[in-house]
Amino acid sequence: MKKNRHFSKKAQVQRARINNVEHLPPKKDRSFAKVNGGVFVYSKPLSVSELSEAINVPVGSIIKFLFMQGKAVTINQMLDDEMIGTLCLEFGYDFKKEKIVDEAHFEEIELEDDPSALQERPPVVTVMGHVDHGKTSIIDAIRESNVASGEAGGISQAIGAYQKTHAGKKITIIDTPGHAAFTAMRARGASVTDIVVLVVAADDGVMPQTVEAIDHAKAASSEIIVAINKMDKPGADSRKVKEELMAHDVIAEEYGGDVLMVECSAKTKKGLDELLDAILLKAEMMELKANPGRYASGTVLEANLDRGEGPKATLLVQNGTLNAADFVVVGEIYGKVRRMVNENGEVLKTAGPATPVSITGLSSVPSAGDRFMAFPSEKQAKDIAEKRALEKLLKTRSGTSALSLSDLNSLVTAGTVEDINVIVKADTEGSAEALKASLEKLSEDKVRVKVISASAGAISDNDVMLASASKALIYGFNVRPDARIKTLAEEEGVEIRLHRIIYELLDEMKAAIKGKYKAEVVEEVTGQAEVRHIYKITHVGTVAGSYVTSGLLKSGEKVRLLRDGAIVYEGTLESLKRFKDDVKEVKEGYECGLKIAGYNDLKLGDIVEGYEMVEKK
Ligand code: GDP
Repeated sequence: MKKNRHFSKKAQVQRARINNVEHLPPKKDRSFAKVNGGVFVYSKPLSVSELSEAINVPVGSIIKFLFMQGKAVTINQMLDDEMIGTLCLEFGYDFKKEKIVDEAHFEEIELEDDPSALQERPPVVTVMGHVDHGKTSIIDAIRESNVASGEAGGISQAIGAYQKTHAGKKITIIDTPGHAAFTAMRARGASVTDIVVLVVAADDGVMPQTVEAIDHAKAASSEIIVAINKMDKPGADSRKVKEELMAHDVIAEEYGGDVLMVECSAKTKKGLDELLDAILLKAEMMELKANPGRYASGTVLEANLDRGEGPKATLLVQNGTLNAADFVVVGEIYGKVRRMVNENGEVLKTAGPATPVSITGLSSVPSAGDRFMAFPSEKQAKDIAEKRALEKLLKTRSGTSALSLSDLNSLVTAGTVEDINVIVKADTEGSAEALKASLEKLSEDKVRVKVISASAGAISDNDVMLASASKALIYGFNVRPDARIKTLAEEEGVEIRLHRIIYELLDEMKAAIKGKYKAEVVEEVTGQAEVRHIYKITHVGTVAGSYVTSGLLKSGEKVRLLRDGAIVYEGTLESLKRFKDDVKEVKEGYECGLKIAGYNDLKLGDIVEGYEMVEKK
């Protein structure tokens, strides 16, 4: 329990029993406050008189007791949870606050179970790392040793995850390596991974995707275990790998950190047992627990339409137990579990916490990353699915977004935001680092600026997905997103802020933190064109034969020239021609000749981006 600040020892013990009881909603006639077997159960804030009635203690006694505690209250005054707790204890009741979450929003239900019902569960592991460092080989080597040891019967099937038994304990391994799946899931608010196994090839060291994987793991608050792979190779240098990782705050135990690092080879299989030992050790430290006694909830890992069997989904049961005859709701669809099998094709009757299973019986194909929840009755499942479908429709109509600077502004004013997550992309490593440091320095007591990733280069898919998953803003410094990335960002509701002057960028963030950000004049890109021919014309300069790839270009408007995502020049569009004629504008899908005032260094493949400054509605 997080909030037992002002309680006595006794009250704290009592308070530990406040838990979110069942996730079932209250029946309509259920009173919001009542005594049940010596326990006072309530579900909403109460006034002095309401509490008095419910626990059958005169209002005067309550007021008097609080007065003696130094709190003057009146009969209609609302009591906070701490006051209610203290009063209950004073007047001889145990107490319990029920958290009522509408079950249609089961993603928001905190799965807090009665501690006595919790049992140890297997860790869920995702393998990430740079391409070719051996992720797939490690996943396969671990799986194979499973089959070889004869513990798994049937033929292994690709269901997106499997369980490995090691030293008598289970480990759940998600077998789609790489961070695309991981981020796609986090973008949907799902986090299934407890431990990220970061694979680094000992002969290659830390590479760009290694760093991305570290960013992802950290943003998802997953623990990291490093597998230093390819130790069999001649150039293997695990010491170098460890030192390089240190620069990214992944610090081995021998350097004073707490990250377990295991040297291994997927080829010779050496060190793989140690890797599994390390996973179990970490899992033990994390005290991963779940309550097998409740109805199942978890996340869809994969789904597809099977020609014979219809919609098929791999579910990872994260809490509770999924039974073969349960009804499940996923997103807006529901169904009765018809057939439930594990990765070896064996039919299961029940699947406990951290078990991946493939099921059929859903009415359509869900999306990876969707949360699911099981229910005992079809009616319940159907009602919830229908309600969610309606809500989704309303939500789509009203439009949604991840985090925008103007949202942030009102959130800061309302005091509901604590961390502002930012991703920085800059033209050079130096400016990325400088921006990261300056942005983080803007943090105040109540609002913290957290740069979850800062690097050099163009804004990529990966940045947008990371931003979407982490509700982050992207700051581009001297870099521009291309049209495809812009569309992706729009789809994901990610705001990309672009700047060329550090202090302007910092001022903007400062204003947002203070709740004073005003987007008055904003830049609106009219379109982009790609340079496909270069003509050097005497007395005129360089004219670029270009193709408008999106929007439109307007003669006389402001333009910037982009090369590999970086801005190389800013100026105005001096002239725009179709064939020999001067034209005012050229639309997407048409060719044109263009000249940028005072600039002749155009190159093939350059992007000319036209923009205007417009006042925001
Ligand atoms: P991924 O892209 O990270 O999934 O990497 P793969 O598992 O596909 O491995 C890339 C290449 O490295 C393949 O040719 C593997 O055979 C090879 N490889 C993987 N692990 C080892 C290892 O421990 N030692 C050696 N020598 N080669 C390995």
